[in-house]
Amino acid sequence: RNEAILAAIADGIVATDAQSRVVLWNAEAERITGVPAAEALGRQPSDVLQRELASEGEAPSGDRVISITRGGHDVWLSLTEAVMSDHEGSVTGRVFAFRDISGERVVEQMKSDFVSTVSHELRTPLTSIYGFSATLLRGDLTFDDEERLTFLTYIASESERLTRVLDALLHVARLDSGDLELQLGSTSVGEVVAEVVAGAEAVARDGHRFVVELPDGPVAARADGSKLRQVLGALIDNAVKYSPGGGTVTIAARERTNAVELRVVDEGIGIAPAEQPRIFTKFYRGVSAPLDGERGPGLSLFIARGLVTAMGGRLSVSSVEGEGSSFVVELPAA
Ligand code: ADP
Repeated sequence: RNEAILAAIADGIVATDAQSRVVLWNAEAERITGVPAAEALGRQPSDVLQRELASEGEAPSGDRVISITRGGHDVWLSLTEAVMSDHEGSVTGRVFAFRDISGERVVEQMKSDFVSTVSHELRTPLTSIYGFSATLLRGDLTFDDEERLTFLTYIASESERLTRVLDALLHVARLDSGDLELQLGSTSVGEVVAEVVAGAEAVARDGHRFVVELPDGPVAARADGSKLRQVLGALIDNAVKYSPGGGTVTIAARERTNAVELRVVDEGIGIAPAEQPRIFTKFYRGVSAPLDGERGPGLSLFIARGLVTAMGGRLSVSSVEGEGSSFVVELPAA
């Protein structure tokens, strides 16, 4: 019965005798360490794990965190230890119980990375806003209208940037927790494209040319119109941002069996093959991305993919460095 209990328990349990030889190595210990019981029994833990489990002293207290290696990777264990001794006080055996907390450590690390990235993203615009307004408020200086206008323009655009970052973070939180509200319905792809491209043309600088290629008849996708506009807007923004030398941005749609395909193609800097899967992850910014001022927080593709996936579609990229990139949105047909 004891054996059945120890085999079923969710912690790794290892017991050693007076000579520190393993006398018990339960199923969970096998799983966590990757060492089968048959290999561990009769040997010292340090021989099988390449590190000691027992503490130095004789009265260990509380949990300890130690690391072992399994298949070339570090595995972090939260370990408790009980020491058994006879009436003369010599150690007759030890029992170790441990859990694999590697996953929790990764989450902790991600949380602290997240906090530091977010603080940086918020602090940068705030610093400018504070700096420019404090300057304007100085009593010992006078500014002419043009200077005042420059400062106020910075304050306004940095506030806008702050709002964009906060909106993006809110979106990420909604995607992460899965409570994104979608209004799915038949959506005219031609209308969405026309609207977003008109918006992009209005703010375009650097001589970008926009080309729209749509099939003759109407194309309808099953999508949330406003989310699709957001996705397309982000892709076109990037197409412009990452082709600093100008060039053509092509927005094309076509119908396939049961699906609608939207493509945003640029002639910009392109993305190295190794980077392509990473650009969709949270906060990832490319190594060849333009200088800091131009960059977003590295969230828009993460959000775009999240939105497209939530609508039952797919977002993918193909790109050649130095030649350009092509982002493809596939959505179910209406
Ligand atoms: P951001 O633009 O805020 O940095 P995104 O999530 O939109 O974040 O994009 C992540 C990264 O993907 C960018 O930093 C850039 O390196 C790369 N990228 C995105 N779109 C393009 C594109 N059209 N051409 C080249 N690189 C791109």
